[in-house]
Amino acid sequence: MTYQHYIDGEWVDGHGTDTFESTNPANGETLGEFRQGTPEDIEDAIAAADAAEDEWQSMSRIARAEYLWDIYHELKDRHQELGEVVTKECGKEISEGKADVAEAWHMVEWAAGDARHPKGDVVPSEIADKDAYMRRKPRGVVGCITPWNFPVAIPFWHMAVALVEGNTVVWKPAEQTPWCGQIIAEMFEDAGIPEGVFNMVQGFGDAGARIVDHDDVDTVLFTGSAEVGQEVGQKVAEDPGKLAACEMGGKNGIVVTEEADLDIAVHSAVMSSFKTTGQRCVSSERLIVHEDVYDEFKERYVEVAKDVAVGDPLDEGTFMGPAIEPEHVEKIQKYNDLAREEAKNVLVDRTELGDDEIPEGHEDGNWVGPFVYEVDYDPDLRSIKEEVFGPHVALIEYSGDIERAVEIHNDTPYGLAGAVISEDYRQINYYRDNAEVGLAYGNLPCIGAEVQLPFGGVKKSGNGYPSAREVIEAVTERTAWTLNNSKDIE
Ligand code: NAD
Repeated sequence: MTYQHYIDGEWVDGHGTDTFESTNPANGETLGEFRQGTPEDIEDAIAAADAAEDEWQSMSRIARAEYLWDIYHELKDRHQELGEVVTKECGKEISEGKADVAEAWHMVEWAAGDARHPKGDVVPSEIADKDAYMRRKPRGVVGCITPWNFPVAIPFWHMAVALVEGNTVVWKPAEQTPWCGQIIAEMFEDAGIPEGVFNMVQGFGDAGARIVDHDDVDTVLFTGSAEVGQEVGQKVAEDPGKLAACEMGGKNGIVVTEEADLDIAVHSAVMSSFKTTGQRCVSSERLIVHEDVYDEFKERYVEVAKDVAVGDPLDEGTFMGPAIEPEHVEKIQKYNDLAREEAKNVLVDRTELGDDEIPEGHEDGNWVGPFVYEVDYDPDLRSIKEEVFGPHVALIEYSGDIERAVEIHNDTPYGLAGAVISEDYRQINYYRDNAEVGLAYGNLPCIGAEVQLPFGGVKKSGNGYPSAREVIEAVTERTAWTLNNSKDIE
């Protein structure tokens, strides 16, 4: 069977005849065949979303949230099953697959719960007997373009608040994870969401691009690579009536100071560099370590990196699964080659896994292990500036104070996430105040996310917030309302 698009409350083949497959990155198994959406399919979805706006907005926020509560319960009830789907389709190990689903219901819970919270500001007017307040209104049609690495969480991070606030949605899932897209669309159908309010079109970049340049889309939410995000932002900026909120990649760093607890430092670094095979936007590819603790940190970190369990992501004992696609393995290998040229020393090279490391029946997986190297810091080295999005990690020794560490830390075009490991609160505070990142962690791996906090970056990592609580700014517009309560017309 070939899975379809969900447009205007119907499952449809769409205009094109092409199909594409979802493949398990751990063993090359085909998971399903999907219709490949065209720009015309996106146009149909946008027309349906546009037509559904009035009815959807005539409902109360609380009534709209009811559909989301159904989905919240379904996500929880099907936690194990959906976690396995995530793991099969994008290769993250099973505890991370399940965490992806949990992050989705956290967001749905936030958005649906928020429906009962007061919205807007009542302000004192400069004139007596006038009420002055700010109201929020939905923007209209919200187009959502999502990446593969959080195939359940990020779609809900985009869509849950948008829907509760009264927008209708056209969503294009990542081409690597259409099965997750299919299941999410089925959930909206099962919840009985009114026709046209939620629409899903499977496909590639050409379908995504039509969301971006269509006149009837009011807000574009994008999470993905810096290259595509920049293009999305530029196109949307051509139309002053449209908004874009874009979240992109990072070249994240962890600063380990001379005051660090090295147990925390090694644990944080290992989690941040190898979980999800280094394919999280917040994964850390740079470890900036003070000279006084450098040798001990290096020894302990390298020991763990050499032994990190790479294997079948459905196996509970696996720490790290495969990379998403063969092309992505090639990209990681190219950066490993570049780092071999730029490094002072290669410390761990598991670029090509041995036959004994690849689990039986998984020979066709996209395997690549940890690659760790040390460099003398030089602002011109590409390997410590560009996002690899893999288990590729540079150790950089620094001397001097926290100011010097943060200077190195900030020396990338990106500004998504970073961490400081230290027992000295002055160093921690300095890092918090001066690190050029949107997500800063102290004495923690730099990988967590909480929906009740903003989630986003600065510099080349994005602008606006398509995710978590701050997405409300992108999916609502504000009216300043003033009411004269007196007969005084002066
Ligand atoms: P990608 O940019 O290749 O694709 C993201 C989405 O954009 C996909 O749905 C894709 O089909 C679509 N797309 C591709 N070309 C397009 C175009 N021209 N116009 C419109 N849409 C287009 O990214 P990816 O490989 O899926 O994800 C990995 C990247 O995402 C990494 O750089 C990672 O750091 C980043 N990411 C960022 C965050 C964050 O919150 N900051 C979260 C997860 C992933």
